[in-house]
Amino acid sequence: MIDTHAHLGPDAEKVIARAAAAGVARIVEVATTIEGARETLARADRHDGVYACLGIHPHEAAGEHDLDELRELLEHPRAVAVGETGLDYFRDYAPYDAQQLLFDDQLAIASTSGKPVVIHTRAADEDTRARLVAHDGSIILHCFSSLPLLDAALEHGWYVSFAGNVTYKNAYDLRTAARRVPADRLLAETDSPYLAPQPVRGQVNEPAFVVHTLAALAQARDADLDELVRQVDANAAEVFGL
Ligand SMILES: [Zn+2]
Repeated sequence: MIDTHAHLGPDAEKVIARAAAAGVARIVEVATTIEGARETLARADRHDGVYACLGIHPHEAAGEHDLDELRELLEHPRAVAVGETGLDYFRDYAPYDAQQLLFDDQLAIASTSGKPVVIHTRAADEDTRARLVAHDGSIILHCFSSLPLLDAALEHGWYVSFAGNVTYKNAYDLRTAARRVPADRLLAETDSPYLAPQPVRGQVNEPAFVVHTLAALAQARDADLDELVRQVDANAAEVFGL
């Protein structure tokens, strides 16, 4: 199994070991700042099963960013994607214009590098859609929850990654969305430490728990769990070039 989107904190080494013990042999660790990107890349370099996704989160968009360093870090062979980047008009932690500029810059970096881009979008459907349809490269909608973007995702072949919230009791709309995603565009993630899946809700989330998200996806799609796990592994290998 693979967790295609996790944030690993100070307990990273233990969390990676527990994931491996649970059969989650691969993790894509996602940085949200340049400083975090250095740490994430170093960890990916130390662990065979850990890969780095490097970028600046829209919450961190305000202020100056050393995009040259980001470009440089992305040249490392363990860096498999750009992100997470995008727009968040819900939390409103950074001015919209700063978020948009940084999103545009990171989309350009992804295009040039030939790496997929991992998208965080919240309450910004139209501005996100307009940029993504113009983007030249692979796109992953992480922690999918923006239902109005599903049609564009299906039309343009974007990957759709579901997180622990698809397991929640009242998440009927997300499970309906999960049924509509073609098998070869489906991904699963924890977005840990946030959004622990239903069976472990209330705990700090970690990559070992991606199994619950995979199980919910299999159930929603009326698919065999082993088959779905193989498919998601293959999809991740394809898009991230693992
Ligand atoms: Zn994230």
